[in-house]
Amino acid sequence: MLLPSLVLSFIRDVQARAIREKGFAPDPDKYAYASAKLWDELEHKNRAGSEAVKSDLQDTLTLMRELGPFQNPVHLFGLVKYNREILEVARRSGYADESWVPFASATFGSDNAVTIRIRQHYVVIYNDGLFVLVDLISAQLSYALQELASGGEGSESLAQAAERAFDVESEIVQSLLTTITCFVTTGDPRRAVEKIADHLLPQDGNHRLLRDTALRFVVAHELGHVYLHHLEDAGQETIGPTQVSFRWKSEYEADDFAVKIAIQALADSRIGPRYKFLFTELLAVQVQPMLLVLVSSAKNYLEHGGIPPLREGEGTHPPSDLRFARVQARIDTALRDVSIAEDEDAAASALMAFILSVLLPPLKEECLKLRHAGVRPV
Ligand SMILES: [Zn+2]
Repeated sequence: MLLPSLVLSFIRDVQARAIREKGFAPDPDKYAYASAKLWDELEHKNRAGSEAVKSDLQDTLTLMRELGPFQNPVHLFGLVKYNREILEVARRSGYADESWVPFASATFGSDNAVTIRIRQHYVVIYNDGLFVLVDLISAQLSYALQELASGGEGSESLAQAAERAFDVESEIVQSLLTTITCFVTTGDPRRAVEKIADHLLPQDGNHRLLRDTALRFVVAHELGHVYLHHLEDAGQETIGPTQVSFRWKSEYEADDFAVKIAIQALADSRIGPRYKFLFTELLAVQVQPMLLVLVSSAKNYLEHGGIPPLREGEGTHPPSDLRFARVQARIDTALRDVSIAEDEDAAASALMAFILSVLLPPLKEECLKLRHAGVRPV
């Protein structure tokens, strides 16, 4: 995987622009930490002997050498890996043709994620800070979910256990509220991280799975634009950081594509322990858009006191809650053929109910209070 100089110069331009706009200096500590993690993984996986992973790691190391220390190598590895997995699933299921799509990545985009095309190369740009936020919210949710997975008390159903675990006065809910408002008002994920108690930040396991699958969903959405030829339809052939505005129809199609990929990946991997299903694919597919709804809602409460109505042509994507409702409907349809244990279903419903009815109202209240005090979102 060798990147052409045009792609490289584009990525450097995006990074320089993002650093100017966001004041996000390249962080040598972060780079060193991420590189070390990647090398650990390389050693570990080499022992495990998976050819696909070895090849992904080699591609990632090549990209690291080519792109330099602005990149987060762990995210680069995710992009290389997901690009391969998504393409495999898409080809097997007939969602994409045989032509390989070479791609590069760039972090620090100011939006959630966008895809652009430079000649034959596709560049996925995504917002590093946003993924750190999703990461840290997921960590706290995973903590609560792990408690649920270890079993409710006595004859308690999972739905009842969830209700108890996600009480509005609970430590986990209070911590989530603090984290989201801190990120929205400072724009700095590192400061938001500092607000989380150590014991609410599991280092391994479900937390990481959740983050990985959430990132894969976003990458699948972006690659969906490529495979479904939306870039050609939008007439996007320019060189440089021009953001493409797709029609909302294309955004919904890319969401559908990402759901299909997630469901297929799920069908391929349903061999794990009891709650693997709940904690990984399904949850990430459902929760990731909800986290974006939460963050954008908090911003809207601060800016406007509520969620302003959006029409086609305003903003690059349809409103997150509309997208979420559609993704949810797609998942429901796709899952009709997949048997889900009743308690898994109950726990997933309880979690969604928690986000909508327990977390959203106090978040709104908190943001309106801040708005009254003159605090502006970043
Ligand atoms: Zn899109």
